[in-house]
Amino acid sequence: VSEFFIYEGASAPGASGLRERYVLLFAPHNEFHPEQAEDALVRFLRTVRAPDRLFFLSFERNRSALIEFSLRRQLRERLPLGAGNLAERVMCLFFDSAGCLRDGAGKETDPVLLQFLRNDGIRTIFNSRGGMVQARSSIHFVKPSGDHVDRFIRAANVLQQGPEITFIAAWILPYLKEDTVAIYCDTATISCLAFCLIALKQSLDPGIRIPLRVHSFGSYAGLTTAGPPPTRSLVLISASTTGRLPQQLTDHQLDSKSMVTLFRLQAINGPKIAAHGYTLCDLDWEPERIPKGHLPIKNEHAGTCAFCQTERRSRIPISPDTFIPEQAQEKFHVLTKPHRPKEVEAYLEHTVGTGVTRCHVRPIANPAFDYEISLDAAKLLAPGGALETALMNLIERNCPRTVIHLEDEASVAVATRLCELIVAEGRPAAVMLSNRVALQQPQGMPTAVAPILIVTSALVGGRRLNDLSRHVRGFAGSVEYFGVIGRAISRAIYKEVKGNLVYRADGTKNGFSTFLDIFLPRPEFRISPWTSEQRFLRKLKKQGPLEPFLAARLRLLEDGRESVDSDPGLTNRLFWPALDGKTLELRENFAFYDGDKPCSLFSQADVYLVAVSILHDLRMADTPLQLLSPGNFDRFNDGIIQAALLRAANPAELNFTLQDFHSDYMRDLICFMLAEPGHVHSEALPEFLFAWATGHLRLTLKDHRSVSDEVTRCAALPGYLKRICQQASHPDARAEAFAQSGALSG
Ligand SMILES: [Zn+2]
Repeated sequence: VSEFFIYEGASAPGASGLRERYVLLFAPHNEFHPEQAEDALVRFLRTVRAPDRLFFLSFERNRSALIEFSLRRQLRERLPLGAGNLAERVMCLFFDSAGCLRDGAGKETDPVLLQFLRNDGIRTIFNSRGGMVQARSSIHFVKPSGDHVDRFIRAANVLQQGPEITFIAAWILPYLKEDTVAIYCDTATISCLAFCLIALKQSLDPGIRIPLRVHSFGSYAGLTTAGPPPTRSLVLISASTTGRLPQQLTDHQLDSKSMVTLFRLQAINGPKIAAHGYTLCDLDWEPERIPKGHLPIKNEHAGTCAFCQTERRSRIPISPDTFIPEQAQEKFHVLTKPHRPKEVEAYLEHTVGTGVTRCHVRPIANPAFDYEISLDAAKLLAPGGALETALMNLIERNCPRTVIHLEDEASVAVATRLCELIVAEGRPAAVMLSNRVALQQPQGMPTAVAPILIVTSALVGGRRLNDLSRHVRGFAGSVEYFGVIGRAISRAIYKEVKGNLVYRADGTKNGFSTFLDIFLPRPEFRISPWTSEQRFLRKLKKQGPLEPFLAARLRLLEDGRESVDSDPGLTNRLFWPALDGKTLELRENFAFYDGDKPCSLFSQADVYLVAVSILHDLRMADTPLQLLSPGNFDRFNDGIIQAALLRAANPAELNFTLQDFHSDYMRDLICFMLAEPGHVHSEALPEFLFAWATGHLRLTLKDHRSVSDEVTRCAALPGYLKRICQQASHPDARAEAFAQSGALSG
């Protein structure tokens, strides 16, 4: 362990326009050992280019020893300094107890030089001790301030070695006044610096009365709960990227002259940091002046965070006390039958084989939008079917005279069928009104005759029905709502929607019923996997003509239907087929279904809906789904279920980089399939490779490379899959290449 802190730096350009490279030796201790200093210095100088200048930095108490040392002939002979006046090239500097820096002749140091020495030195400690905590490509951090970042400054990392801590403390000496009552740190993790500062001051000026009180005020949260430090405190702030904390302290009447920020780095999208108090070390990278600086930090707001939304990285909170990333609460979910929401069984019972469930459906009114799952309730209207029985019961109970329907095709179809059934029953014909026409009628709707039945094919958030409910609120007669499929995002929302529609101002209730319920994510909160696939293929097409399979796939997604005369959306071409071209199908004994429908009747869309509703239900739970255990892909080894889970999962849920064990597991699974790509257990290999190549499923860099190698070796892989796999890149590999290029260090 070195008794000294030695670093190299470069001063401001001199008259020649060239910057002088220097090496500085800092001697922190009371006693100065010339032999040790010489050894340490000579050893250091072997590792760097010969400097133009040499500085010896210490405290006044070591003045004579250090000057004597700097004049040692044997030292000068060993120094690789260029020719010229040695006296000008070797310089001694001493801190006095007030932190003022003077040279050997007692002259105060040039402030510009001083700034270089301080910044270079502290930045060197910062970089070598890992002051910047960088997130791996799969995660990011939530700071105590609430901002999301991919890296943050942890000042405590920097404070490890005595000579280095003393070096930093020496630069704070000018701010420790005789009337200072206490030292307050924004985090307890830097309090060792405060203690070092006190000890240093005391050793330099034993007669001085100095505070011994060191506190931590706990950053933002502490300012709110415990209030600001008292006036005449010296405040040490570990780091600032937004300038908000120093600003808040100034707002609390704290004198900015007694505020020292250790590290400051500009934020990309933050406000330009105003100068509050004194900054020890600027970390901002500048091409010429500060090549070992750092790029600005990007503080993202929680709601609009690109790391969450675009890159889908997992969130790791940073503890406000210790500024240490908390252990990722990585819960790997193993899916079992009880995870199936209870509505799913009844939903499947009525819909399997009907084509109700469709994926990648784009509404005609808004073709740019893509419904991951769309439920076509009109498909349930088969004569004699269960929906028809439900409508008959409704007629029996409500005897509707007016049927108001929402304006989508399926709602119109259901209302029309309802009116036909009313007549067929020998009852007086009902008036059929569209939602829009009903709303245009003045309060009371003179043409509407009670009882009123309000029909919708799908009940999501109830927004359109709410308008109508306000309109019929004053209506004296009976009103009943009927939804063919209730598909709110959660039971709680469903209950709220129902409550809004059912309760009347006068305390009486409207009727309410649905035929089927299923809980699904809101389409606008998730990019459909087919939209992602489409984007990916379009991008690939720009690089060169697509292989026939990929071209056909892109056409399918752009047409948004499986054949010219089929209904919009996909039901059986959701997933890439097996290598032999076989469509992925459900084999017998579907783990998530107990009913009587044969598995052969299940479309891919039916299976996909089950996967989505299970994952959605887990995401809405009190301890939400974070990661899918890779073991799920062994438990459910039907290619179609694997493909459905892969596409239904969010990328963060397939981020296996967080634990080597899981990444290894997933790598083994993929390599196992690559070893026998034609085998039935490898049916979903194309889907796995697609998920891997697009970064939807992530492995550690090591495992990523293993899969790459295996793909290269696999001769049976068709050209289109090789092409896809060529797109696979790993963020850590990019970061590695970047670091190796040496463009920026630190
Ligand atoms: Zn985020």
